[in-house]
Amino acid sequence: MNWHEYVSKTGRLPEWPYEVNYGKENVIESDVLVVGGGVAGCRAAIEARKQGATVAVMDRGFSKHSGNGGAGVDHWHGAVTNPCSKVTPEMYSEVAMICSGGYTNGSARYIIGKEGWDTLLELEEWGMQIRDLDDEFKDTMFRDEETKLLFAYDVENKHCLRVYGHNVKPIVDAEMRRLGCEVYDRVCVTSLLTEGGKQGARVIGATGVNDRTGEFYIFKAKAVVVSTGVTGRLWYFAPELINDATMYNLNQTAAGHTIAWNAGAQLVMMEQNSARPLSGMGYAPYSTGNTDNTYQGVPAVDNEGKLIKYENSHGELIDEEHDIFAAADPDKFVIGHGINLSMVNGKEYSVTNMDRHVGEKIRKGEYKLPLYNDWTLLPPKHRRLVFGMMLSQEGKCRVPIYYNLTKWGFDPDKDMLQYPVDTPEGYALGAAWVSSRSHNPPNWGGMGVGGILSDWRLQATTPGLFAAGGNTLFGSGCHGEAQATGRYCGRQAAKFAKDHPAVEPDAEQIRKEKERCYAPVTREQQGDVGWKEMNYALARLMQDYCGFEVKTDTTLEMGIRRLNDLRDTEGERTYASNPHELVRLLEVFSLIDLGKLIMESCLARKASSDLLGFKRLDYPEVDPPEWDCFVSVWQENGEVHSKKLSKRYYLEAPYADNLEENYRRYAELDGKEGK
Ligand SMILES: Cc1cc2nc3c(=O)[nH]c(=O)nc-3n(C[C@H](O)[C@H](O)[C@H](O)COP(=O)(O)OP(=O)(O)OC[C@H]3O[C@@H](n4cnc5c(N)ncnc54)[C@H](O)[C@@H]3O)c2cc1C
Repeated sequence: MNWHEYVSKTGRLPEWPYEVNYGKENVIESDVLVVGGGVAGCRAAIEARKQGATVAVMDRGFSKHSGNGGAGVDHWHGAVTNPCSKVTPEMYSEVAMICSGGYTNGSARYIIGKEGWDTLLELEEWGMQIRDLDDEFKDTMFRDEETKLLFAYDVENKHCLRVYGHNVKPIVDAEMRRLGCEVYDRVCVTSLLTEGGKQGARVIGATGVNDRTGEFYIFKAKAVVVSTGVTGRLWYFAPELINDATMYNLNQTAAGHTIAWNAGAQLVMMEQNSARPLSGMGYAPYSTGNTDNTYQGVPAVDNEGKLIKYENSHGELIDEEHDIFAAADPDKFVIGHGINLSMVNGKEYSVTNMDRHVGEKIRKGEYKLPLYNDWTLLPPKHRRLVFGMMLSQEGKCRVPIYYNLTKWGFDPDKDMLQYPVDTPEGYALGAAWVSSRSHNPPNWGGMGVGGILSDWRLQATTPGLFAAGGNTLFGSGCHGEAQATGRYCGRQAAKFAKDHPAVEPDAEQIRKEKERCYAPVTREQQGDVGWKEMNYALARLMQDYCGFEVKTDTTLEMGIRRLNDLRDTEGERTYASNPHELVRLLEVFSLIDLGKLIMESCLARKASSDLLGFKRLDYPEVDPPEWDCFVSVWQENGEVHSKKLSKRYYLEAPYADNLEENYRRYAELDGKEGK
């Protein structure tokens, strides 16, 4: 029964169905605590448990389906040691550094390259299909006949796999629970606990609030993994709409970034801003025609059926279908797409895409709008590989696009899928599948891939804190990468827990946190501002003072003041009618801190950067040599600090100057041979 049916039938609003106990304390002790039970978090929990640690997992949602990865996976990146791959972990890491001009996580990419395939093989053992077992795609260029693996993006180098991952999340969730990890669903993290309650000290646990009962959770742990993913709620209005229509999960606020920042950990690349067409004002991903990502290779035609060709990195139009799935240069490879990598310097390693001159050609009348995907131009097996296999594996496509289109009678054997009608220049990479560019205000930004600064153990600068998965760990990001870094972190956290005794948290730190969390339901004067209004106000402040196009010292400083004001004025007038609203409010307060962290990072970099997608109106010089570095930011006793850091810090002292030696030194292989 839905809300409307209930109200019509009973004539009243439903009562809160759970017993509410605001402030009631639950104390949980474990060797390892995982904050965020997404795919990375589940893998961290599984691995830590396998190493003999006791494990608690806190998740904001229901870990069986929570997180961006809860929707399923169709592309598995970074499986570079699979038997068909011509790419090595060294190539994967080094090329990622080249493509992004060094603004990525070189050590994490190497670790992913070393372990991504093994991580996938474990999934196969647990029941996820990773091969074309029914020989449906036999004798196509996408398949290796011996292993039955299917490849995407680059059919020559064969390192990105097409997988049948619609059920990936229930599978890792079940394995985590089977091994005896204690899972605390619907608990939102509010802070990390640190030794002596000090910023920058060892991390020894976390606090959280349950969004059904309102109870308070105190997790005590010897080591903590954070893997809370990314957020879509910072720049955009109407989070409930935006998160449905784009790629984000409403429960996600990048809380791991914020709790780490408040605990005194260093973060990097937080100034990176993307003008991503994910404002929620476009169409649902993949519901319209496009040639990108899952739809790569599907032919586009204009309104008169005229074919629009794909183009390679040399700017040559492609005639052979095979060449759509290959690098233009035989000595290069396509590194992949959607792996949180700025490709500013990576043209030769990029995916092929629609003729980049299509906009001019539309203006000249050579092509007539609207455009369409004409599936009938594909061989039947290739058509089925995209519309059947791929679309049905990614959760946000499986039901809303694949099932619905099919149910409504769409048949790729004879029907075409229309593109949004956009400005001619709007038909650029990615324009269509998330929405068209012209549907999005130009100054609205989105979070880049900044996150917690990590060492070779993927440990933060605060001991005992490990970062895994998309975005929490800086400079990494896709599904396979998240699972691989989660698995690696689990191993590291278990080892840390073995080597370090438990420390009792500081009672004053807990008391203050509790007081802060329950203020909206305990203050004497009834509040009149709800969480959605707070979220809208925050979005407007981010749009104005930390927009994609316009940033100056003055506007950023004003923005930080405005965020403080928002918290200290309207924030003090907030109300919550039930634990759900209380937790949504706590999320907004967390987002306010995240906004400040981002603005502080933007202030710290006194230059613009194409590589980072970072524009300063008052420092227009682009990528000057003195700013060719990371800028890390952190807090100490509430004061903000920043410093420059070499982008190749992971190959400089105290580390060895080569990837493999560092991996062997720190990976905790325990006698197992690294590949
Ligand atoms: C629709 C869709 C399709 C995608 N398809 C692909 C694909 O085919 N291939 C690919 O490589 N990538 C894909 N991605 C990206 C991929 O899913 C992400 O990179 C990956 O899920 C990141 O994993 P993660 O565990 O780090 O984060 P998530 O999977 O997002 O998990 C984060 C977890 O943290 C929890 N959490 C968040 N906030 C809190 C809090 N305050 N307190 C407690 N817990 C919290 C959440 O509930 C969630 O369980 C896709 C993403 C989407 C949205």
